[in-house]
Amino acid sequence: MANTAKKQFAVIGMGRFGLSVATALSNMGFDVLAIDAEEHHTQAVANQVTHAVSADSTDEDALRALGIRNFDVVVVAIGEDIQASILTTLILKDMGGPLIVVKAQNELHGKVLQKIGADKVIFPERDMGLRVAHHLTSPNILDYIELSEEYSIVEMRVSSQMIGKNLKELDIRARFGCNVMAIKRGSKMNISPAATDRLTEEDILVIVGEKSDLTKLELAYAES
Ligand code: ATP
Repeated sequence: MANTAKKQFAVIGMGRFGLSVATALSNMGFDVLAIDAEEHHTQAVANQVTHAVSADSTDEDALRALGIRNFDVVVVAIGEDIQASILTTLILKDMGGPLIVVKAQNELHGKVLQKIGADKVIFPERDMGLRVAHHLTSPNILDYIELSEEYSIVEMRVSSQMIGKNLKELDIRARFGCNVMAIKRGSKMNISPAATDRLTEEDILVIVGEKSDLTKLELAYAES
């Protein structure tokens, strides 16, 4: 049976990223504990989350006192102080319990976080930079999600050359080595598109493939 209990989140570090995650979760109706070493940062978020407390997350006793072990997910959003981010992650890992999601400042920081057992490492600036770059070079690209070092997913608006054609005619798999996983049309999502489905102007293709193949596809259909 699905677990219907409301998930409990803790977010450590109320910089721009942490604040955005904490308030978004709170607006989605989840319980959120916001933690920051600086009192004025916790005060600034106090009326937007369930609880906001001032604490140094590199202090194990302080984290224990907050009952951090009982949360479902802890997001470590400390950026600049890489040492504090790593130490906090280590302490959380050692305690066991929550899923640990950590913001990495750079590739090396990310590697260390992975090695010490962070469950998910995120690179917000790098990922957003990638998305913006893909959108700028090919305005048809609405979103770009990196799956691994080799593979990504793009959301691509149907270009004028594609309108009225079907997937068989476009032959994206043979020509670019990429797979159309789904077609979005308005609020509907067709997750098993047929080769004979004709594309309309409002369609958005969700395509998975190797990054270099996706770039070839993006450039082939780029239009300003
Ligand atoms: P942004 O998301 O704005 O880019 P950033 O990556 O620059 O932020 P920082 O400003 O370094 O991140 O840190 C974010 C917040 O984390 C700050 O408000 C800081 O007070 C808090 N912080 C730093 N170290 C600790 C710690 N040991 N315990 C709790 N909070 C901390």
